[in-house]
Amino acid sequence: MTHIYETIILGGGPAGLSAALYAGRGKLDTLLIEKGSFGGQVATTYEVDNYPGTDIGITGPQLADKMRKQAETFGTKFVKEDIVNVELQDKIKKITTTKGEYLGKTVIIATGASPKMVGFKGEADLRGRGVSYCATCDADFFTDLPIAVIGGGDSAIQEALYLAKFGSKVTIIHRRQGFRAAQYLVDRAKAHEKIDFLLDSVVEEAVETEGLLTGLKIRNVVTGEVTDFPVDGVFVFVGYEPISDLFVGKVKMNDFKEIITDVYMRTDVPGVFAAGDVRETTIRQVVTAAADGAVAAISCEKYLGEEA
Ligand code: NAP
Repeated sequence: MTHIYETIILGGGPAGLSAALYAGRGKLDTLLIEKGSFGGQVATTYEVDNYPGTDIGITGPQLADKMRKQAETFGTKFVKEDIVNVELQDKIKKITTTKGEYLGKTVIIATGASPKMVGFKGEADLRGRGVSYCATCDADFFTDLPIAVIGGGDSAIQEALYLAKFGSKVTIIHRRQGFRAAQYLVDRAKAHEKIDFLLDSVVEEAVETEGLLTGLKIRNVVTGEVTDFPVDGVFVFVGYEPISDLFVGKVKMNDFKEIITDVYMRTDVPGVFAAGDVRETTIRQVVTAAADGAVAAISCEKYLGEEA
C-alpha cells in the first residue's frame, strides 16, 4: 500500500523550508517536493541583509542552505521531482510527479513566484543572450560592460547595487519618477558613482547584433521621444507572478492567480494550505514567507489533530 504522509509540502523556498522545519519539529511525517534548487528566489539573491539573526553579508544561497540543513535535522524527507498534477478535494490528497505518486493527509502549497517579463520586442528571443532575470546568475558575463536594469522596486534597486560591482556602469530604467523601493536602497543607488537613472522611460525594443543584445530602444513617456541606448546586458526586475497554474480551479484564487488563504494559511479546501509568494499577500519578504510556512505547518498539525 502506498505510504500516506501527514503533510506534503510543495516547494522548497523559504516558505516551504520553514514549513518543513515546523512540521518536522512537530513530529509530522512530512515530505517536501522541490523541482529545482532549494531556496527559491532567495537562492538567486546576492545578499540578504534583512533576515533577522543572520550575519550581515550573508548571501542568498548561504541562507537557503542553512534553512535546508536546519529543516533536514528534524526528519522531513526531501525529494527533487517535477509535480505534474494535484488532486486535493478528497481527504487523502494525491500529488503526481514525473517520477511517481505521493499521498498526503494535508498539503502546503509553497511554490513561490517567478520573474515577470516586461514585454518589449526581442525580450524572449534574447533571454540568455543579453536579457537576464537573475543578477547573481549572470552578472559575471557583463564585467566591465554597460548594464541596464528595468524596474523601480526593491529587486531592481538592490540588484542594480550588486551589478555595479561588475559592470562599467549601471543604468536603472524606470517608467516613472517615484520608486516603489525602500528609500534607503534608492538613496544608496543615487549615491553610487557607477549607477545612474533614466526615469519616465520604457524599453520598447531590444537591438541585437549577431544574436546578442547590443542596445535598447527607449521611449520617454512624457515627451514620446525614442532614443537608442547602447548596452550589453539588461536585467529585468518588474515584479513576480505566482507559480500556481497547477492549482487553477482546485483552490480559490484572485485575478492574479494568487491563492487566497485566511490568517491560518488555510485555503478554501480542507487540509490544503498555502504559504509565501504564491498566496495573496501584501508584503513579500523572506521573513514573511518563512512566517507563513511556520503558520501553515502549525495549522496542519491542528487540522490533523481535529480530524483524528
Ligand atoms: P515590485 O515591488 O512589484 O516592483 C516592480 C517594479 O517594476 C515597479 O517599480 C513597477 O513600476 C515596475 N514595473 C512593473 N511592470 C512594469 C512594466 N511592464 N514595465 C516597466 N516597469 C514595470 O517588484 P519587486 O521589486 O520584484 O519586489 C517584489 C516584492 O519582493 C516586493 O514586495 C518587495 O518589497 C520584495 N523584495 C524585498 C527586498 C528587500 O527587502 N530587500 C528585495 C527584493 C524584493 P511602478 O512602480 O510604476 O508600478
